[in-house]
Amino acid sequence: MMSGYKIESTGFLKKIMRDYFMGMSEKKAPLAWCTSVGPAELLRSFGFEVYFPENHGALLGATRTAGDFIPAAVQAGFSGHVCSYTTSDIGAFLSGSTPLEKQYGIKQVPAPDLIVYNTNQCREVQDWFSFYADHYKCPIVGIHPPRFLDAVSADEVELVVRQFQKMIPVCEQASGQKFDPERFKAVLKLSAEATMLWQEVLKTAQVSPPPLSFFDGVIHMGPIVVLRGAETAKEYYQTLLAEMKANVKKGVGVLEREECRLFWEGMPIWGKLRALSDLFLQNRTTVVASTYCNSWIFEDFDDKKPFESSALAYTQIFINRSEKAKLEMLKQWISEYRIDGVIFHDSKTCFNNSNNRFGLPLRLKEETGIPTLVVEGDLNDLRFYSEGQTITKIETFIEQIESHKAVV
Ligand code: SF4
Repeated sequence: MMSGYKIESTGFLKKIMRDYFMGMSEKKAPLAWCTSVGPAELLRSFGFEVYFPENHGALLGATRTAGDFIPAAVQAGFSGHVCSYTTSDIGAFLSGSTPLEKQYGIKQVPAPDLIVYNTNQCREVQDWFSFYADHYKCPIVGIHPPRFLDAVSADEVELVVRQFQKMIPVCEQASGQKFDPERFKAVLKLSAEATMLWQEVLKTAQVSPPPLSFFDGVIHMGPIVVLRGAETAKEYYQTLLAEMKANVKKGVGVLEREECRLFWEGMPIWGKLRALSDLFLQNRTTVVASTYCNSWIFEDFDDKKPFESSALAYTQIFINRSEKAKLEMLKQWISEYRIDGVIFHDSKTCFNNSNNRFGLPLRLKEETGIPTLVVEGDLNDLRFYSEGQTITKIETFIEQIESHKAVV
């Protein structure tokens, strides 16, 4: 491990995230709750602050409090085998608790004025968000794009555009503001700039040693998830990118010398980020790229055609695509990041983002020759994760890659 390596921008990140949560809790603006790959830019154009329950779910996972709350959701009728973001978030709500209290002194997530979801990632969000809409007697709007496509056609984009446009009167009613097309364009432009900066940040990990790993990425992606369309997200990624580029120039990174470069496919195991990060570094291995961190890159955002481009960008994300499209995307990342092996996380409660279940690891190996490994676990529910077994599997996988490299 490169001793003392630290990403200095983390201090700025903490400030931004604090300001975001504090601003929201002061409720100076109407508040919309939205899915993580939902139409945040359109909402911001109406002056909404935007809160993301999935981000709250990730906080419950990372603080390892999810397990305390899942039983409350199970008692309320949710299966313990559905999305553990959903069950831990609803369980925390039913228990009157939130990790935001310890971190920022916020006792309760502020109530929504509007709830918006997009099933481009899963149908679970519809039920999860409907639970809150019922509780708060709050208006709710859903975007239901076509799913699992090889390629997204103009017809499909048009369908989603119409769904976006149907949101307008509901947003006007909930925000008290008329739709302003120029404002929407301006917000989308900011979001496009931030997302491209985020992509550049991730791409700095194409060099050896990489200045950030997947485990850094899942922390530093905070602003691109929760502040898309806000000036602060752009500022943050300008700062982070400058630091990453400077580190590349100096030749410093997460390891002095890496022997193996891996790709993480699927959800993070939030409660085990530190332990897993240490495990890879101890094995002279860097996890340099992931589908997860790449999921917030929206190359198609175009402020000249805001509805069409955001409908396209949000419909053609990895999780919403066919196995064939996913295979092609993975092949491209493998080549761009010079990947030696791919780890597929089979996340027990997220069927939608566990991509090992229909033969993808095998097809990927056949087409690229790159070895793959499946590890069982979960995003938030650590009862589905066996630490000992996972460590053994990962270490064996790395050894096999290294011995194969030695003979080639
Ligand atoms: S994609 Fe998976 S983790 Fe995310 S909300 Fe849907 S089921 Fe939950």
